[in-house]
Parts: sequence; C-alpha cells; structure tokens
Amino acid sequence: MTEQRQNRTWIGRGAWAVTDQGLYVLSNGLLNIILARWLVPAEYGAFAIAYSALLLIGAFHTALFIEPMLVFGSGRYAGWLAGYLGLLVRGNYVLTIAGSVLLIVTSACAWAFGSRPLAHALFGLAVAVPFILFMWLAKRASYIRQQTRLAAAQSLIYLLLLLTGLFVLKSLQLVSAFSATVVMGFAGSVTGLWLMKRIRTTIPDSEDPPASRAVLTAHWTYGRWALLTSILMWAPLNLYFMVLSTSIGLEASANLKAITNLALPLLQANAALSALLLPLLISHKHDRTEFGCILRRALALFVALAVFYALIIGALGRPLSHFLYGGRYQTTAGMLWLLALIPVLDGLTAVFASALRSLEQPKQIFRTQLLAAACVVSVGVVATAAWGVAGAIGAIVLAGMLTSTLLAISVRNLAGPALTLNANAGTNIQNHERQDHCDLCGESGALYGRKKGYDLLSCPRCSLFWTNPLKHDSQQATAEATYPGEEVYLSNSISQKERFRRQLRTFLRRSGGKDVKSLRVLEVGSGLGFFLDACEELGIPAEGCDIVERAVRLANRGRERVRLGTLDDYYLDESFDAIFAFNLIEHLPHPKDLLTQAHRILKPGGTLVLETPIQESLFHRLARVGHAVSQGRLNFFGMRPGGHIYKFSKRTFRKELGFTKVYQRNIESPFGELWGNSSVLNIDHQFLYHWSLPLAWTLAKLTKQGNRLFLLLRKSFRPQNGAFDTAAGFGQR
Ligand SMILES: [Zn+2]
Repeated sequence: MTEQRQNRTWIGRGAWAVTDQGLYVLSNGLLNIILARWLVPAEYGAFAIAYSALLLIGAFHTALFIEPMLVFGSGRYAGWLAGYLGLLVRGNYVLTIAGSVLLIVTSACAWAFGSRPLAHALFGLAVAVPFILFMWLAKRASYIRQQTRLAAAQSLIYLLLLLTGLFVLKSLQLVSAFSATVVMGFAGSVTGLWLMKRIRTTIPDSEDPPASRAVLTAHWTYGRWALLTSILMWAPLNLYFMVLSTSIGLEASANLKAITNLALPLLQANAALSALLLPLLISHKHDRTEFGCILRRALALFVALAVFYALIIGALGRPLSHFLYGGRYQTTAGMLWLLALIPVLDGLTAVFASALRSLEQPKQIFRTQLLAAACVVSVGVVATAAWGVAGAIGAIVLAGMLTSTLLAISVRNLAGPALTLNANAGTNIQNHERQDHCDLCGESGALYGRKKGYDLLSCPRCSLFWTNPLKHDSQQATAEATYPGEEVYLSNSISQKERFRRQLRTFLRRSGGKDVKSLRVLEVGSGLGFFLDACEELGIPAEGCDIVERAVRLANRGRERVRLGTLDDYYLDESFDAIFAFNLIEHLPHPKDLLTQAHRILKPGGTLVLETPIQESLFHRLARVGHAVSQGRLNFFGMRPGGHIYKFSKRTFRKELGFTKVYQRNIESPFGELWGNSSVLNIDHQFLYHWSLPLAWTLAKLTKQGNRLFLLLRKSFRPQNGAFDTAAGFGQR
C-alpha cells in the first residue's frame, strides 16, 4: 500500500470513529434532555442516580475489559482473537450479572426506605446493565478490527431504536425512569449482538483458545491502576448526587444533573479528542522536541475550544436550559459561570493525563486523582449539604483546579527535563568550563531549564542555582582591561555610600561592641572603594582587593589600601575580624573557594558579610512563574555564564560550610542598577522586563521581598568533619 493511500485509509477510519463518538454522545444527550422534560423532577433525579450507578459499573468494565482489550487485542492475543473475544464476552456477563445482583439489592433497600422512583430506576438498570455493557465491549472490539464504519452504523441504529422506544413509551404514557432504562438495555442488546456478530464473521478461525487464567491475570495487571483512577474520577460528582438526594431531595439531584448536562458535550468532545491525541503522543514520545510541540498545540486547542464553549454556557446557559428543559430547572448566572470553568479544567486535565499515559505513568495519574479527591471530597460533601447544587459545582471546580495543576506538575517533572536534555544533544559547548555538580556540597545538579547556550541547574540538596557552563572561553581575561558598570556606580556613589553605612552599622551592632579602631576589615571585590570610604568615615581600618586593575587604581586614590588580587594565600591565617563581599560571590566560578579562604583568614568568631541575589525574592519567584508559563522561553533570572553564574537560596548556607548565620535580611537592589545596562545584559526579553520592572520593584519593596540577601555569617570555631574535603583540590583549579 502506498503511503498516500495509507494516510487516506487512516483519515477515513478516524472520521468514522469521530462520527461514531458523536452519534453516541448525541443519543445520551437526547435521552437526558427528553427525560428531563418528560419526567417529574423526582423521577428524573432517580434516573440521574441510576445513570451514575451505570457509569460506576462501566468504570470497572472499562478498566478491566475494554482498556486492556484495546492493547492486547492488537498485541499479544491478536493471533487468536476469536477465542479471546469469546472469553471476554463470557467474562463480561459474569461481571455485569454480579453488578445486576448488587443493583437489585440496592433497589430493594431503596424500596424499603420508601424511595419508590429510585427503587424502580435501579431495578430497570439491573435488567439493562449486562446488555448496555455488552454493547460497549462490541463497539471497542470493532475498533481493534479497525471497523469504525461498522461502529458508526451501530451507533446510528442505537440512536434510532432509543428514540423510537422513548416515543412509543410516551404514546402509551409509560415513560418512567424504569422503562427508559429498560429501553436503553433493549437498544443496547439488539445493536450489540448485531455488531459482535458482524465482527466475528470477519475474524479468521483462531488457534487453540487462550488459557483463561492467563488472560485474567494480564487484564488485572494492566487494568488495576486504570480501575482505581476511574473510580476516583467517578466518585466526587456521583457522591454529590447522593448527598443532594438525601439532604435536599431527588429534585435537587435532578437539578444538578440538568445543569451539568450543559457541560457534557464538551466533556465528551475532550474525551474523544484525547483518544486521538494519545496515539499521536505515543508515536512521538522518543522525539522529545516534537512531543513538547504536540503537547503545547494540544493545550492551545483544548483550551481555546473549552473557553469558547465556556463563554457560551456562561452567556447563554439560562435561555438554553429554559429551552431544553421547558423552564423546569433553576439556574443562576453565578452557577453557570462556575459551571463554565468545568470544561476548561477538564480540557487541561485531559491533555496532561494523555501525556502521562503516553509516558506509561498510569500510577501517577491515580496518585494525583487520589490526592485531589482526598483534599476536596470531604469539603465537597459539606458544601453540597450546605449550599446544594452550587456547592456541588463549586467542589467539582475546585477538584478540577487541583487535579489539572498536579498533573501539570507531574508532566513538567517527567517530561520537562527529558525534553530539554535531548534538545541539548546537538549544541556545541564542550569547550567551556562545565559544572555538573553543586560547588558547595558536591551533589549532582538537576536540570531546571535550558536557555540560549547554557543550562540552568539546581542543587537538590542546598537549592543552589547555577549556569552550566560557568563561563564561555571568550570571556576569560577580558574583564581586566575595563571596569564594566563604572559609570553606573559613579553616578550612584552617594546613595551607594549611604547603603554601605547602613550595612556597616548593622554589622557593628551584631559584632559585640568591639572598639571599631581595633577591627581589621577586608573587602573582597572592592570596586571603586566606596565601602572603604564608608569604613574610613567611621574610623574602621579597612583594606580591599580586586582583580580589575583600573578599579584598583581608581579606588586607591593615591593611598595603598587596595591590592590587585583575590582572597588568596597572600593573607595570613586568622588575621581579620571581618570580610565583606558585596555582590561578588554570584560571579565566582567556585564560590566554595571564597568560603574556604574566608574561613581560614577570619579570626575565631570573625564575620563574613555577604550581599548577593537571592531566590527567596519576588523577582526570582516572578522569573520562575515566567519560566514555567512560557515553557522556559522567558528568562528573567538575570543569570548567564560569566555574569551572575550563581543564585543562592537561604537554604544554601548550611552549617557544614563552617559558618553560622547570625543575621539575614532581604534588601532591594537600587532601581537604577536594575534598570541599567549591566543588569539588562543578562535578560532575554528586555522590553517586557522594563515594562514590568517598576511595578515588580515597588511590590518587592512593599512586601520586603527584595532581590538581594544581606547576610552575616559567623565563623564556627570547629567546622564539622569533612566540611573542607574539597579544599584539598583547591590548588588544582
Ligand atoms: Zn548544593
């Protein structure tokens, strides 16, 4: 067969599958609307409960029969399909007759408690359920044989039989929840038997029949997670029906059913679309770029459809329900807008759940549903008892929000890093200084995101963030000739010195009231010397060092207070009371070296004073949101190799490093510095950044969520064993 013909065949089968699904949705929708109009609310409420019982038995059936059959029927049991199907048909009757018996018992209980309509409806379902589920089985069996046209024909006949049956009942004045359910069973048995017979005639004679125990085991192994998931998906809504019928009455569950019917077409469309999405995702799951691309497009499509539908429900729901139900059921605008959220959340859930199924994570979906149900159901039951229908809808919305969020997080955690790791394979950055491990605790870094030419990694142990590579080759030894940002610093000298004075005062308050003139203070990365000036004003003897020759010359201003160099072996052991490093440590390829040297040089009980951008800040949180929402395309972290290489967290400075925290406070960067070129260099979308900066900066100031941490670390007298294991390798770097 040529590729073109293959495509055409596939499209043809797909179109018939969609037609089949559409016809089935139509028959269920019409059945519900007709009954809502013809039955008195108490009867319709009873039908709603019977229908939800059907869906529960159906959930068992789908998980244990249909889903495994779709996989095994075209896989391991394809060789003896006739025998396999025969076995499933027998199994189907065993399961569904057991369901019937349960329903009869429940029906008798309802009768005993005086709820006649419910007893009738459940009894009708007990008669019908084996046939309805047999029809489901036959329909999916036709999908294995790719006979979707046959399935569509069956759906059409089912629709016609159902409508005919209902109108016959109407003319005989026999319409009730009981008779309607029996008609469903009748239409199901006739069309199901017809379909199964047609399928079986096309299947060649099979070999030896399969061992039923082996089939049972295979189905159970495959189906149990799906079973638990479908029960959890079934439970909340249907539980609310029961709560409504017991706390308020069957009329209230009829009302809930009537309203949620309005959302049903899109929920069914979501189900049909995810049935088409799943094979697409499975076939691309090894090409992660393509996988991510499909996922994003599917999200856009599902959300667009659902939002469109939600607007219709919200705006036209009242006249629509008046038209459909002849004014029988009460809806309020608030309820409808709440209801309108359900298809949107369901669309998100459908896409994320499909992604997890394609990644073979049915357990993950189950866990999510379990967590959402555990969180919401008890609240939902109380809300339903208290506020009736509106409470139930609110609880469904809440559960949808929780489920879709949790699923999105799972997908991101499972597919996100993998997506980016594979995309990484082609790029050429091997000549640059790479860093796969956390510099501070040696833990191997987890990939957080992939940016243009570098990765962002984070330490699972201490939360340190860094760029990999640390810097590009071309950046080596260029910084020494000029002093970047010189003009910005000079123009801000007055406010900058004021900041330093405040910080010095904080330090002095915390350092035990020693005579300031006896203190020995060292500033690493002293820049233009403003901090040294502030020290001199207060009479503190201070010296500095910097690696930029021009900065050293400018800062010295004729004196000898700044040395060209780093915090290295030039300084004697235990010779300083305090070491200051403002906005320096985030630039160092190996910040641990600075901590190690500072520990050596500081006197016992001496203080290391740091100022550095911090993760526990509004800016960083916004950057994280931007990163998540844009799938990594918005990069407001302000980090890049050779620039801000690191971003620390309050969790990063652990005791093992040989220091104890004595003081920490969030402070804001000066607005001018954030706005200026030196900071914007590290930002991808500068327009967006500048546009949002004033608001973010003000908010950060108001909420004390400034983007830098001012931190005082006291040297511990006895660093814990092994804290400086890597110090041995210090000289080799
Ligand atoms: Zn770490």
